[in-house]
Formats: sequence, structure tokens, C-alpha cells
Amino acid sequence: MPATGDFPPAPAPAPAEGAGEAQAEPDGPLDKLARLARRQFGVDMVLVACSDADGVWQARAGAPPAAGAAPGSLPFSAECPLRAGDGRQLGTFRLLHGQARGFSDDDRRALQDFAGLAAAAVEKRRALAAERADEDSWRDEARNLSMAIAGSGTGVWDRNIVTGEIRYSAGWKALLGYGESDISNRIEDAYRRLHPDDVDYVRAAMQAHFDGRTDSYEVEHRILCKDGSYKWICSRGKVVGRDEAGRALRMMGTTTDISAMRAMAERLQRTADLLVNLTDAVPGMVFQCGQRREGGSRFLYVSAGIWDMFELTPHDVRDSAAAIEQRVHPDDLASYNASLQSAAAAQTSWHLEFRVRLPRQGLRWRQGEASPRLEPDGSVVWHGFVTDITDRKRADFELHELAATDALTTLPNRRHFMSRIAAELARIKRHGSDCAAVLMCDLDHFKHINDTWGHAIGDGVLQHFANTLRAQLRAVDLAGRIGGEEFAVVLPDTDLERAHAFATRVQQRIADAPFSAGGRRIPLTVSIGISTMHTLDADAELALIRSDRALYNAKQLGRNRIESTPSVFSR
Ligand code: GH3
Ligand code: MG
Ligand code: MG
Repeated sequence: MPATGDFPPAPAPAPAEGAGEAQAEPDGPLDKLARLARRQFGVDMVLVACSDADGVWQARAGAPPAAGAAPGSLPFSAECPLRAGDGRQLGTFRLLHGQARGFSDDDRRALQDFAGLAAAAVEKRRALAAERADEDSWRDEARNLSMAIAGSGTGVWDRNIVTGEIRYSAGWKALLGYGESDISNRIEDAYRRLHPDDVDYVRAAMQAHFDGRTDSYEVEHRILCKDGSYKWICSRGKVVGRDEAGRALRMMGTTTDISAMRAMAERLQRTADLLVNLTDAVPGMVFQCGQRREGGSRFLYVSAGIWDMFELTPHDVRDSAAAIEQRVHPDDLASYNASLQSAAAAQTSWHLEFRVRLPRQGLRWRQGEASPRLEPDGSVVWHGFVTDITDRKRADFELHELAATDALTTLPNRRHFMSRIAAELARIKRHGSDCAAVLMCDLDHFKHINDTWGHAIGDGVLQHFANTLRAQLRAVDLAGRIGGEEFAVVLPDTDLERAHAFATRVQQRIADAPFSAGGRRIPLTVSIGISTMHTLDADAELALIRSDRALYNAKQLGRNRIESTPSVFSR
């Protein structure tokens, strides 16, 4: 500790008792210490100087020694640092006197004691200041928090679980329209304000948190407002005190008005429900299907009609559309996939009629319609629907059959027969080596049958002949009614000889089993002309003309005969 000689020599006058105290001195503990020290040491001035983050400040007693007060004598100065508990220097405790004076060990120890007391006072002063600053910031924070809570439509509650008392903030009461003294602070009353339908799950959630099964309590429920209506709120809370056994003692929480959010959620739900109900109600299946860029697709939405259309559930196609492809008829699968691919590539709408094979319904026809939408990630989202067109397809088929079939005999009519015989010629040409026999059959003296038995019996005879002919056909053979009582037959892969045997069988059958009406047998004979159709025939009609010529010969030669005309190209 420095003791003397560091105060600049100055002529200082002898201090008058009380000099420098005329001015009003602050009266903090440091000032008191300075005054006490000045009296203890009998010096002109005691200065306690400190510096901290706020700057330099000091306490003092007395006045500085006047410069050159006592010529020839050295001024006196002694000081001791103020040390904090951790050893940091906080300031200096200093004695100043205009004249030299002694400074004993006792004085030195006394000065150390003063410095120690001063250091303690400084530390206390700093601790108090820090505490005040802390308190200020807490107060600011609390004010901001309560303003934020009030502004967000949130109320606060504090529940004493032991006494059953619950306190609500003014904001909480305002949220539900209650005045400051409209509601009691009893938990039983709080439960009575809950919507009856919500009581059980609110209690269960609360109990779960009391029991420590949940980290916090959070539940959405309805609560009674002052005007008698119910409001949807979200209540969140946490137990903030438990006893040694873990029993909940106190709980604090917030209540937030979520009625607007719930109303919007309900509106959205109603819209979604409407959409689902609508799509479920329309016949067929409405869908949204996502097709990944790297391949593979899955149904993002599909209406309940997927059961009728594919005998699948939405769950079956949620992760992959493969189940649908397995239902598509194998003969239609290639065009099914190709049509989807090309529509996606060209970004055009998809339209396809295809068959499905279903476990319960069997073979059915489906029509698919969809539009692709290319997503930024390169995937494609399809929106579309699939409908059942089986009935339409059947009607189309029946119409086509009707147009192609002779009503009386149900054999192909002339137009249809001609297209089939042309197809057979094309097949022969493709294969190169095959030939087919072409037969023309004309019932003999049919006019006479009509005239003798009547037109209706004539019709029966025509039907009977058609059935007899049909019974002789193989699956690959084809017969048609090409005129009133004229029939034509194509026998693929058949030469003249085998065709002749066929014609003989027909004549035989007709002779053996004629048409009978009213117990009367109506005898009938038929003349047949045969020719062959060959790869070099330019037209199927040519073969028919040749057969017709052979038929003419059969008629000329007396009827009930079989004549043939070999093809001009026959080898
Ligand atoms: P041919 O031995 O020379 O063939 O003598 P045809 O009497 O059989 O020949 P023709 O051509 O003179 O007479 C054919 C008759 O077939 C005339 C027509 O009234 C009758 N016919 C044509 N279509 C039908 C039909 O759908 N029903 C009935 N009942 N008769 C028909
Ligand atoms: Mg005829
Ligand atoms: Mg005839």
C-alpha cells in the first residue's frame, strides 16, 4: 500500500476545521465513511474514487489542501485500493493532507479497514443497481407479454388444484363476454361452463396431464359465453407445482378463441364432404391420379365408384395403380398403357374404351376420360372419370348383328356374307397355299312350295333348310342367305372333292328330315353349285359367279344335283 510522497508538493494552508464541508455533501454510505476517516486520521481530505461501466464517481470529505500552504513542508498522501471479493480493484480510498505527517502501522491497518468497508459498500451498491436493472427488464417483458396475450384473443388462468380455486385474467373473462365479477373462482363452476358433449374428453386430457402421462394439457372444446352461446376455444396449460409424491398442486394455462378457425375448418369440411358426396353419387368413378416422372402412378383421390368399375377399394390404389392394370383385359392392356403415355406426352386429353375382367361381374366394358396436368417436378396429375359402357357396347354389338343378320334364318345376310368371304380370300392370299370351297345352294321349285302350302309354311321351310345347313358347318365354315331361297357357303381349306361330300350330306339331311307342318312332311330338294376360291382370284365375287354357273348347270340338268366348276387357276 503506498503511503507517502505521491501527492504533489504544494504550499497548502493549514486546514480549518470543517473546511470543504460548507458545501452540501451527498449522504451515501461512502460519504459517511469518508467523513469518519477524515475525523479518524485528521487529514484535509478523504477521497473515495471508483470507476465502473457507468463512468467514474467519487465520495469525499473535506477540501483539497491549498497549494503551498506550509512552505518547506511536504504534503502527505496515503491510499489503499478497494478490492472486490474476487480480488478485482474497484477503486481507491485516499487520504490527503497539506503537510507531512506520520503514518503508523495502526494508521495503515485502520486505512485498510476503511478501504475494506468502502469496497463492501461499493459492491452492495453495484448489486442493488444490477437487481434494479433486472427488475426493470422483467417488468418490461411482463408488460409486453400481457399486451401480446390480450391482443391475441387469449386469456390466462391459474388453478389451485388442492383448493379447487381458479383465477381468470380480465382478458379471459372478456373473451367470453363476462364482466370482472360475473363468474366465481370455483373449478366446479368452470366444468359447468363446458359443453356437455366435451366434458368427458376435457376431463380425461386434464387427468392425463395431472398423472404425468402428458407433458402439457392441450384440448379444443366449447365453452359457455355470458350470452348463452358456446364458443370454441383452445385451452393449453401445464402443472407448475407438484408435491413430493408428484401430485399436481398448481396449474397455469391460456385460453384462445378459435371459433373463427373452427368455423372456417367446418366450412372447408362441408365443401370437402360435398365434393366427396357428389363424386360418390355420380355413376362411375371420379379420380385424381399422380404419375411419377420416373414411372409408376398412384391414386391421390378416387370416388367410391372404384368398387363398381374395378371391384377395388380406394385403399387398393392409394400407393400404386397396378391393381387397376391387373383388371384391364390382357388384349386391351397395351393400348391402355400406350394411350395414357401418348396423351401425357402430348398433354392432350385421354379417351379410351377398354375391357376389364372382374372377379364378380366378369367381362365388362369401361370408358376412361381424363386430362393430364404437368407438374413443375415433371410428374403428371390426371383428373378424370371412368364409366360403365357395357350396355352401350352390347347394344352396339346387337345393332351390328342385326344389320348383319337375316331376320328369318338368323344366318349372315348377303352384305355381311360378302364381307366375310372377302376376308376369307384375304386370309388365303396371306397364307399363299390354302384354298376354300364356295357353294351356292338354291331350293328347287320353291315357288311351288309357297303356292301349295302357303307363304308361312314357305318361311318355315327356309328356316328348316338354314338350320340343316348350319348343323353341317364346322366352326371355321360360313353360310349366308344371299337371296330369297338362295344360300351360299364358304368352306376354308376344302377342295372340290370334300366340298362335294359336304353338299351331298346337306342334300341327304334335307331328304331324310324334311320340314313338317301340321303332321305333314314338306318334301324339299336343293341344287348346289361348287367352285373353289384361290390365291389368284382378284375378287371373291368371281368365285361366287363360278359357283352360280355350276348351280345353273345343276338346274339345267334336272335339279336336286351337285355340279362344280373348277377354278380357272386350279392346277
Ligand atoms: P327353281 O327350281 O328354278 O329355283 O324354281 P323356284 O320356284 O325355286 O324359283 P323362283 O325364282 O321362280 O321362285 C323363288 C320363289 O321364292 C319366289 C318367291 O316368292 C319365293 N320367296 C323368296 N323369298 C321368300 C321368303 O322369304 N319367304 C317365302 N315364303 N318365299 C320366298
Ligand atoms: Mg332362286
Ligand atoms: Mg329356286
